[in-house]
Amino acid sequence: MGAGDAIGAGTLREFHARSIADREGFWREQAALIDWHAPFERVLDYSKPPFTRWFVGGRTNLCHNAVDRHLAARRDQPALIFVSTETDTERVFTFGELHREVVRMAAIMRELGVRRGDRVLIYMPMIPEAAFAMLACARIGAIHSVVFGGFASHSLASRIDDASPVLVVSADAGSRAGKVVPYKPLLDAAIDMAGNKPANVLMVDRGLAPFERVAGRDRDYAALRERHLDAEVPVEWLESNEVSYTLYTSGTTGVPKGVQRDVGGHAVALAASMKYIFCGNPGETYFSTSDIGWVVGHSYIVYGPLIAGMATIMYEGTPLRPDAGILWQLVEKYRVTVMFSAPTAIRVLKKQDPSWLSRHDLSSLRTLFLAGEPLDEPTARWIGEALGKPIVDNYWQTETGWPILTVAHGVEKTPTRLGSPGMPMYGYDLRLLHEQTGEEVGVNEKGVVAIVPPLPPGCMQTVWGDDERFVKTYFSTIPGKLVYSTFDWGIRDEDGYYFILGRTDDVINVAGHRLGTREIEESLSSHQAVAECAVVGVADSLKGQVAMAFVVLKDPARVAAPEARMALEGELMATVDKQLGAVARPSRVHFVTLLPKTRSGKVLRRSIQAICEARDPGDLTTIEDPGALEQLRRAVGLEA
Ligand code: ATP
Ligand code: MG
Repeated sequence: MGAGDAIGAGTLREFHARSIADREGFWREQAALIDWHAPFERVLDYSKPPFTRWFVGGRTNLCHNAVDRHLAARRDQPALIFVSTETDTERVFTFGELHREVVRMAAIMRELGVRRGDRVLIYMPMIPEAAFAMLACARIGAIHSVVFGGFASHSLASRIDDASPVLVVSADAGSRAGKVVPYKPLLDAAIDMAGNKPANVLMVDRGLAPFERVAGRDRDYAALRERHLDAEVPVEWLESNEVSYTLYTSGTTGVPKGVQRDVGGHAVALAASMKYIFCGNPGETYFSTSDIGWVVGHSYIVYGPLIAGMATIMYEGTPLRPDAGILWQLVEKYRVTVMFSAPTAIRVLKKQDPSWLSRHDLSSLRTLFLAGEPLDEPTARWIGEALGKPIVDNYWQTETGWPILTVAHGVEKTPTRLGSPGMPMYGYDLRLLHEQTGEEVGVNEKGVVAIVPPLPPGCMQTVWGDDERFVKTYFSTIPGKLVYSTFDWGIRDEDGYYFILGRTDDVINVAGHRLGTREIEESLSSHQAVAECAVVGVADSLKGQVAMAFVVLKDPARVAAPEARMALEGELMATVDKQLGAVARPSRVHFVTLLPKTRSGKVLRRSIQAICEARDPGDLTTIEDPGALEQLRRAVGLEA
C-alpha cells in the first residue's frame, strides 16, 4: 500500500489542486508529520507579499525532529552511517549515539559563546562532525551556513563577511581521489581577508594535514568534547519563522545568493517530501551522493532522511574508488532503499565497464532519484536498464529546498517520462509564462517556469540580510506580475509533463532566432558516440551569436585521425540539422575529454563562453578539474 491509499489522495492532479485551492487546510494536515512543542496560531501569513510566513506562532526544532523524537522507538538503530573510501573509515552512529554527539557539540558551541540567532559557519569535508555541527546549531537555535569545502579563500572570505559568524567549525583537511586537500591554510587566509572576523575557530583534527593554531582563536574539538562527554543541552523551541540556515546558490549564473530558510516550514516540507516523493520509511537507509555544502546535502543527507527516521549515508569519496562498483557495494551492504544522485555521477559511471552495476545485490533499492542538472534521455535509459530500477528525475533549486517538478509515487504511481522531470509538486502553483507579455503559454509552447506566490513551506524566506534583493532578483522579471521566476525555460505536453529547456540566460540569438543551448545539447547527446556535451553562444559579427559545441565522446580514440574527426563533426551537425533545423547547427563541434564543471557537477557554461570569446572566465574556485579549461583553450585555438 502506498501512502496514497492511506491519505485517500486519489490522483496527483487532485492532490496538487487541493494544495493550491486550500493551502491552509492542506499544509495544516502536513504539519502533523512533525512534532510541535507549541501549536501554530496561523498556517499562513501572506500579508506582506511576496514574503511568506508558515505556521506562525508554532514552536518546534529541527534537531528535535531529526534526532530526539526518534530516541524512544529507535535509539539503537543506525542514524548516521559514515563511509570514507578516502581514509578507509566506516562508522555507524545509532540515533542514541548521534544524539550524544550532537549534544556534546552543542555544549561546545555554548561554551564558545554561540547564542540563539548567532551564525556559525561550517567549512568542512564530509565527516560526521559536519553533521553534528549542523544539528547542534539547529538544537540551540544558531544559524548555520555551510560553505562547500571545495571553495578557496576568496569565496570563503566573502561568505564570512556576509554571514559574520561568531564561530567557524572546520577541519585540518579533506581528501579527494586519494589526495589530501588541506583546509586550514585556506581558512586562515580567508579570515585574514574578511572584515568580520569570527571570535573562535573550532578545529576537528583528522590527522591528515599538520596545521598551525592561532592562539586565543583556534580551539581543539577533541579536547573540548572530552570536557562535555555527559553534557545536557536541551533543545531551544524556536518560532516557526526563525532562521534555521543560510546557504549560497551554486553561482552558475553569476553572483551567488544567500538563501535563507525557516524552521517549521522547512521541517514540514522535508517530512512531506520524504513521504510523498521519496517514499522512505523509518528504519530504512537513504543514500545521497551529494555533499553537505549543497542544498541536496542539507535536505537529503542530513535533515530529510533523519526527520523520516531513516539512516542516512554520509560518503566521503568518488564513484570510482576503490572501483567503479563502490556506490552499489554500499547499497548492498547497508540495504539502501532510496538513493539520490546527480546525472553527472551517472555519466562518470557510464564511461566504465557496465558489469560493475551487476556485481552487487541491489534488491533493497526501490528507486534512484537524480537531480541538479538536466537528465538526458540516453543517460536515464542507460542507468535504468543497467539497474533494472525506476529512475526518477527531479527538478528544483537551492531556493526551493525540495523538488518543484517530479513524480510523487507516495500519492499516485504516475509513470515517468524520459526527458521530463515530471509534474508540479503539491504546493507549487507553477506556470509557464511568456517572457515579454507575462501571459501563460499554451501546451507545447515554451515559457519561463514561474511560481505564483505564496511559495510553499520549505522555500527560501528571503536573501540573507537583503529583502530588497530577494524581491528584485526573483519577483521582478515578469512584466506586470508578482511571480517567482526560476530563470529556467520549460514546456508542458498534453498530459501535463514538464520539460526543462535550459536557463533563461542560456538562450542564444542566431540571426534573430532564439535558441536554447540545452535543446542543441539534447540533440547532440542523442548521437550514440556522445557521452556528454556543452553548447554555448559565442559572439559573431555576422549572426549576432553562433552556437559552439564541446563534445566528450564515449570513445575519445574515435577522433584520433583528423579525417575521422571531421567526419564525426559533420555527422553531429547533421544530427542537429535534422532534429532542430539548420539554424541551430553549431558553427563548430570541438572534441574534448572533459568539460569544465563545478564539483557539484554543473557545467560552467559561462566560463566556456568567456573562453570562447577570449574573456576572463571568472571565479573558478569550485571547478572540478582546471585541466578542462586548458583543453578548451587549445580547442578554440587560444593557448593558455
Ligand atoms: P545560481 O542560481 O547561483 O546561478 P544554480 O542555479 O546552478 O546557481 P542551484 O540552485 O544549485 O544553483 O541549481 C538549480 C538549477 O539547476 C535549476 O534552476 C536548473 O537550472 C538546474 N536543475 C536542477 N535540477 C534539474 C533537473 N532535474 N533538470 C534540469 N535542470 C535542473
Ligand atoms: Mg539558480
